[in-house]
Amino acid sequence: MHNVVIIGSGCAGLTAAIYAARANLKPLVIDGHEPGGQLSLTTHVENFPGFPDGIMGPELIENMRKQAQKFGTEFRSGAVTEVDLTTRPFKVIARDQVYEAKTLIVAAGASARLLGLPNERELIGHGVSTCATCDGYFFRGKPIAVVGGGDSAMEEANFLSRYASRVYLIHRRNEFRASKIMLDRARANEKVEFVTPAVVEEIVASKGLVEGLRLRDTESTERKDIAVDGMFVAIGHDPNTIIFRGKLDVDANGYLIANGGTRTKVPGVFIAGDVQDHRYRQAVTAAGSGCMAALDAEKFLEEHNHS
Ligand code: NAP
Repeated sequence: MHNVVIIGSGCAGLTAAIYAARANLKPLVIDGHEPGGQLSLTTHVENFPGFPDGIMGPELIENMRKQAQKFGTEFRSGAVTEVDLTTRPFKVIARDQVYEAKTLIVAAGASARLLGLPNERELIGHGVSTCATCDGYFFRGKPIAVVGGGDSAMEEANFLSRYASRVYLIHRRNEFRASKIMLDRARANEKVEFVTPAVVEEIVASKGLVEGLRLRDTESTERKDIAVDGMFVAIGHDPNTIIFRGKLDVDANGYLIANGGTRTKVPGVFIAGDVQDHRYRQAVTAAGSGCMAALDAEKFLEEHNHS
């Protein structure tokens, strides 16, 4: 029986673990299918307070993990496949193991979206990627494309320009969601060529490898082919909430809904990070909500005579 089980090991989950562990609650973190969450898939983080020169995402998340471990957090790997929230203790099933929890913190994050093209999924790892840091190195001296118009797309385009011979930035509109500083940086990068307004209509592949993209201009409807060895999809994320549907409240986009602070409609279940936030989605806001969830869980345990 665990005082606190935390689902997810990104910024929110690990911050919750640090706080719960320091409160002597010996939390258990279940890693999830993307250990470390989105920070482990990102490059240079310049806006996390306390790092005036920035810090690499994977290093930042590794530091948080060590900090949580130092105070007695336990970790288990594997994705959670089922939860029973009908009675306390709650039951959490991951890798056929059943964990019992007096309180639960859901910090399961959000996962990268794909375009939905027929051969896209099978080409992941063969030219299609959602992680520039993981796969950029494989495209040394080769032309590649980044799809999207937000900060992620700009960041990935800049990062990938270190390796690639050319980076096509493909976005469906002429306006960008990206912040001005990130957009200006990508525009100033001579290796990055903006192709707008355009969508990817087809991934051209041969022998199981990406060879090019067929693009359609969304205004003129004209089509053109570009030769690329890779396509990096940076079009946002979907929350990892499927196992909570019908058990916790979700909004129209599938994000969990808090019921005051980090509380949910199930007493003893708290939520933190991107699984419940489609507005701010920053490492620092995820960390902040992880802290709040741990404090709420601690208070809940106190109120329910946890010894
Ligand atoms: P985002 O801001 O939601 O942008 C997603 C982009 O993908 C949008 O331009 C959207 O186009 C496009 N898109 C969505 N679905 C598409 C589809 N099916 N086909 C083609 N294009 C599609 O997501 P994000 O860039 O991942 O950023 C998420 C959050 O993280 C933001 O708050 C961002 O500021 C933050 N972030 C910050 C940093 C940083 O500061 N260093 C780095 C990365 C991310 P439309 O605009 O037309 O909808």
